Amino acid sequence: MSDFAQTDQNRVRRRPTRGHYDQETIYGIVDAALICHVGFAHEGVPYVIPTLHARRGDEILLHGSSASRLMNHAAAGHPLCITVTHVDGLVLARAVFNHSVNYRSAVLFGRGRLLADEVEKMAALRDFTERLLPGRWDDVRLPTPTEMKATSIVAVAIDSASAKMRSGPPGDDEEDYSRPTWAGVLPLSVQYGPFQPDPRLAGNIPVPDYLRNLTAGDSP
Ligand SMILES: Cc1cc2nc3c(=O)[nH]c(=O)nc-3n(C[C@H](O)[C@H](O)[C@H](O)COP(=O)(O)OP(=O)(O)OC[C@H]3O[C@@H](n4cnc5c(N)ncnc54)[C@H](O)[C@@H]3O)c2cc1C
Repeated sequence: MSDFAQTDQNRVRRRPTRGHYDQETIYGIVDAALICHVGFAHEGVPYVIPTLHARRGDEILLHGSSASRLMNHAAAGHPLCITVTHVDGLVLARAVFNHSVNYRSAVLFGRGRLLADEVEKMAALRDFTERLLPGRWDDVRLPTPTEMKATSIVAVAIDSASAKMRSGPPGDDEEDYSRPTWAGVLPLSVQYGPFQPDPRLAGNIPVPDYLRNLTAGDSP
């Protein structure tokens, strides 16, 4: 894996030591997230829309209704800014000014390309499903031609990107360390809860192993 070139667009200015430009770090943050936010300007107005994503090599796959503004805008090849954020903890300092959060975030820039070829589109849908729920694709009914038509998939080639991360305890002013104020980190994580079977399950169907395995590992 290589590094993204540092440019005016992707250079982290504040706290530059927290900035990273290597694909390994950036893609790790992207892959660990269930959702991203896609930013774009449409008719001079900025929008930031949350959506699911999947990474395929150096591309981000987005999928959605063929009628959605986001998908149509992305499919037309306009510039996009995709962000991913993980909040790992609240950082409680002795001074209110020094409070912070521990986080891993990534900002990616690129343009979309509509997947028109049916075979490529189906393969992308499979990637999408399998990245969120490995094993699910072979267990479910696959999309009909009508469902495929109603769904757009856009592959966004990542032209530029950055990551920014903070970890560790608060950084207080030296004279504040003697204060009798509790300080430290309150960790935060996203976890799966217990399965909630659909009341309309067709019989006494157990939760399959591939889903149990999913919840046994790290949650997104
Ligand atoms: C959960 C969370 C909470 C935050 N809370 C605050 C807050 O309350 N106040 C605050 O000032 N900042 C906060 N930040 C940091 C914020 O995201 C920016 O980094 C900050 O505004 C400084 O940006 P800048 O002026 O250096 O860069 P900008 O000029 O805004 O950005 C230049 C380039 O740097 C890169 N970049 C900037 N920030 C990030 C990032 N977070 N992740 C990846 N790439 C980045 C992008 O490629 C961007 O195009 C928070 C970050 C996270 C993840």
